[in-house]
Amino acid sequence: MRFVEPDFERLSTGEKRKISLLRSDLLDWFAVNGRDLPWRRPAASEFERICVEVLLQRTRAETVAAIYPSFFGTFGCWSDIAGTPLTVLEDHLKPIGLWRRRAMSLSGLATYAAERNGKFPRDPRILGQAPGVGQYVMNAVLLFQHGQEMPLIDVNMARVLERYVRPRALADIRYDPWLQAASHWLVRRHPIETNWATLDFASAICKAQTPICNSCLVRSRCVSRGQFPSALLT
Ligand code: SF4
Repeated sequence: MRFVEPDFERLSTGEKRKISLLRSDLLDWFAVNGRDLPWRRPAASEFERICVEVLLQRTRAETVAAIYPSFFGTFGCWSDIAGTPLTVLEDHLKPIGLWRRRAMSLSGLATYAAERNGKFPRDPRILGQAPGVGQYVMNAVLLFQHGQEMPLIDVNMARVLERYVRPRALADIRYDPWLQAASHWLVRRHPIETNWATLDFASAICKAQTPICNSCLVRSRCVSRGQFPSALLT
């Protein structure tokens, strides 16, 4: 995939400040309201956290959490997955759906990782050439393995940023220059916690259909406040 370098010149000074305030508020909110998911616990390995991000695409966190114990009880490292026939891997993934596609992606990624003792390249231009690595998984690897400030940007993070600041211009999240810059700016501090906070906030408060604006701690700065008839505003 083509790597998009974030260009912070795309953000105005006001937008940078506003997004920094969002980060601060989300971290406060997360400290009280964050979900206790097994891959967020200190005992979770980076292998587990990267695998989980492959599984989380188009799937609810609670659905992935339900298979977490059995899946990682069976597969403890990249080599375990790489050495497993696709049909067997598919059987493990059937409970969360899209099992053929997920098994193919995970198997390719695991084979690549096992050949490198679990160490992925830290250069996104090289990492992006690996099998099973689109932008989302690439960012997850760079975030969890190399400690880089990368956003786990999907429709949920995009929704929060676009409602709170302004809409993107391009349909494809991966290539919209403003959204890429905004999401990278959001996770410039405490990147792992900020990513998790944003995803939980999108799930609990800034929901796709009915955002709960009256319970939203950033509503006073949100440009979309008042645009949702089903959301109660105070
Ligand atoms: S005020 Fe409403 S639309 Fe804006 S961020 Fe909060 S929940 Fe989302």
